Amino acid sequence: MLVKGVAFRLESDIPFEAMSLLEDFRLAVNNAIRAGVQARVTSRNTLVKIAYRDFREQHPRMYAQHLVSAFEVAGSVLKNHRRRFRKDVSCRTPFVKRLMMKAENQAYKLDRKLGVIDLPIRAGYHVELRLIVSQYHRKYLDDMSLSLGSLTVLPDRVIVAFRKEAPKPFVPESVLSLDTNERSLDGVFVEGEVAKAVKADFPDIAIIQQRHHDRRKRLQKKKAHDCRTSRNLCRREGTREHHRIDCRLHQVANSVLKFAEERKSAIVLEDLKGMRPKRSKELNRRLSMWPRRKLHQIIEYKAQWKGIPVVKVDPRYSSRTCPTCGRKQDSRMGAEFKCECGWHMDRHINASMNLLQTAISKGMAGGLRFDPGAFQHDVMMILYEPAMAARSEPNGTSYVVEVT
Ligand SMILES: [Zn+2]
Repeated sequence: MLVKGVAFRLESDIPFEAMSLLEDFRLAVNNAIRAGVQARVTSRNTLVKIAYRDFREQHPRMYAQHLVSAFEVAGSVLKNHRRRFRKDVSCRTPFVKRLMMKAENQAYKLDRKLGVIDLPIRAGYHVELRLIVSQYHRKYLDDMSLSLGSLTVLPDRVIVAFRKEAPKPFVPESVLSLDTNERSLDGVFVEGEVAKAVKADFPDIAIIQQRHHDRRKRLQKKKAHDCRTSRNLCRREGTREHHRIDCRLHQVANSVLKFAEERKSAIVLEDLKGMRPKRSKELNRRLSMWPRRKLHQIIEYKAQWKGIPVVKVDPRYSSRTCPTCGRKQDSRMGAEFKCECGWHMDRHINASMNLLQTAISKGMAGGLRFDPGAFQHDVMMILYEPAMAARSEPNGTSYVVEVT
């Protein structure tokens, strides 16, 4: 089962009753967390057993299903805490600060035509939350193959989970193999006998990271005498950075998937899981590793949702192997890969060819073949470039020029 959370803004401020429900919910979560830490349990059912009655006595009017869902939230917080606690015994008991509540799908009603949520507060008393519905939201609301999952209510927005059975991936008619680099995805697209270079360029992501990194360093120095302010400012910088990068990663992923969907391509990616940064330059490496992993995550879940097959292969030696004769080189210096047999190719594209060959040799590319000799050197297909982000117009402002 696949789940996608879609955020909606509210037409007006959240009603007062709903706001106090959020506060009660947070109280219930934090109570359950404390009870759970004391009793050393994390499962929802056990939490219900040990903490339900006490809380019920203090809050006799709260809707019972919300209370159970609060225990569920507490359970997941406790599980994270237990993981952290195993590594570091001195870590503090968690505390939920943010106002939020979660309701399972039986505990609320959503009118998918009107975009109105009916949320029970207590027995016999409901509030209506009117959602702002855009074209993007309509796509999910009108698609009746999507069922409703849980609802998360925050003071300024709600998140509705839409669920569907994972579609069966299509049988690929072509293949798109991508090598993931710090500033771009480079690869090869193979359709029939023809192979072409493809590129999705995102130089701005590394620039944004560097800029925010520098700014945090400067802030820390400037506010060295006031660590609370320094921490808050740095956190704000971090949030901004994540938003900006996330937005670009989604754009890159969307253009890759659009390409793959139109041409019925399987996507081949390197498996980044085993790649551990070396201790010495850990920070720098981590800085550059994070967006790549995130990009893969985004591509994978979006591909799953659309039924596009994704193949992940072990990237070992992919940057040092010759795809025509199979020789392995000792080093991987330079922008161009050169082999004794006469083969030479852009380093990144060469790596993607090796990824593709690994996928084919393991039978993961759906019977497609690839011959490096069929590569067309003079063609480069651009999947994405930063200018495309600026060019894409927001909804509702695009217009058609009439040709007479
Ligand atoms: Zn060779």
